[in-house]
Amino acid sequence: MSEKSKVAVVGAGVAGLTTALLLSKRGHSVAVVAKHMPGDYDIEYTSPWAGASYLPVSAPGTREAEWDQITFAELYRLTTQVPEAGIHFQDVITYRREKDKGSVTADWFSELLKERPWFANIVPEFRTIPKADLPPSVDFGTRWKSMCINPAIYLPYLLSQCLKRQVRFRRGTLTHICEAVNFHPEYTSCSDIAVVNCTGLGSYTLSGVTDSSLTPARGQIVLVRNTAPAIIEVSGTDDGEDEVTYIMTRAAGGGTVLGGTYQKGNWSSAPDEATAERIKKRAVEWCPELVGKGEGVEGLDVIRHGVGLRPLRVGGARVEREVIGGARVVHNYGAGGFGYQASYGMAEEAVRLVEESLEEVKARL
Ligand code: FAD
Repeated sequence: MSEKSKVAVVGAGVAGLTTALLLSKRGHSVAVVAKHMPGDYDIEYTSPWAGASYLPVSAPGTREAEWDQITFAELYRLTTQVPEAGIHFQDVITYRREKDKGSVTADWFSELLKERPWFANIVPEFRTIPKADLPPSVDFGTRWKSMCINPAIYLPYLLSQCLKRQVRFRRGTLTHICEAVNFHPEYTSCSDIAVVNCTGLGSYTLSGVTDSSLTPARGQIVLVRNTAPAIIEVSGTDDGEDEVTYIMTRAAGGGTVLGGTYQKGNWSSAPDEATAERIKKRAVEWCPELVGKGEGVEGLDVIRHGVGLRPLRVGGARVEREVIGGARVVHNYGAGGFGYQASYGMAEEAVRLVEESLEEVKARL
């Protein structure tokens, strides 16, 4: 980049922080404004609630698969070379039960549960589990090496990498997307600042955007001190269509996330007690190694119960340009349940769109 450009990023979740970091690495002058920042736990801030693992659900040949592939390379580099990022390798075990076919979870995980998903070529040690080694209720399973992120370390890590590159941070709640320009300290006029919208589900109500194709996919979790030997993902549950079984141990003492739910259209922030009991029961059934020999759910040591709302978007995540009230806006939101595993691919595309819009402005001068 020959010229420094001014960019205001709205949002400090994984999307906003990754985009701000990549923009700053390209030499742009970046300011971030957000209602919530790393360290906060809030129903309007999804990123701290995530697992967060690399478990692609994208269909082959789609731009989502491309985002996942780009992100794999960077997460792998961070895991092997940057211990302070708070990511570690963990084996993944997927279990498919034919009776779950057509359920909400089986549809969501359809690529993940295939005999040979597209990502089998990029993740290490992908293999089929011999039938004799599967639990009796399981028809097919795979095992491979993946990565699990501890958001309590990783989000502050991204923030610190931004600070190192002179990104400025401000707390603020916008009512209209165009207000973002006022938060850039070098603001002179609307036309010389690009805005990147990384507000997640906030884009449902944010004026200038008000995207009604957004909907929450509510994820209730139980975070425990127990350790799991691997990430476990099951194609469905016997407890209802919108309940899910997954288990993952976060890096560096981040605890183990027991999931969960995938409840579309449900905005409720309060953990439901009965759901939590079912989550714990399923976790111990599928992963008895979580607790001591002979123990049941009473062997689980709960850190906290939580609910996060995945920013699901009908028609797919939105990474595109738009001019709103004279402001050049690039959107990067709506990643649903894949905001971490697609983060670098999505952010790279957003950066490319910002630079494209700046080139057009320069060409007009
Ligand atoms: P958010 O994290 O919600 O950030 C939005 C930001 O915008 C916040 O800073 C907020 O304050 C700000 N904002 C919003 N509105 C305004 C406004 N009007 N003014 C100012 N600021 C505003 N993904 C994976 O890849 N792997 C996983 O294993 C995984 N597991 C998950 C498990 C659960 C239980 C959940 C809930 C999610 C999981 N996800 C996972 C999905 C992932 O967490 C999300 O896709 C991702 O966090 C979305 O990030 P975001 O930055 O777009 O949104």
